[in-house]
Amino acid sequence: MTEPQLDPRWEWIESPTFGGPSEYIRGACRHLTPVEVRATVTDEVVAHLCPDCDHQLPAEWQPTRR
Ligand SMILES: [Zn+2]
Repeated sequence: MTEPQLDPRWEWIESPTFGGPSEYIRGACRHLTPVEVRATVTDEVVAHLCPDCDHQLPAEWQPTRR
């Protein structure tokens, strides 16, 4: 059985269907490509912004590596 091509930016929840192939439901965003948000004056990283889900993340955010 081959794994379906799933967008790696999101978590996918396998949902078995009776008598058929499993379906995948898009779950939480993994925030893989956060963009640094810097303070104008100090040029300090104050936060990260995830362009995939528009979620603001802490300055110390690191994407989860697998
Ligand atoms: Zn995200």
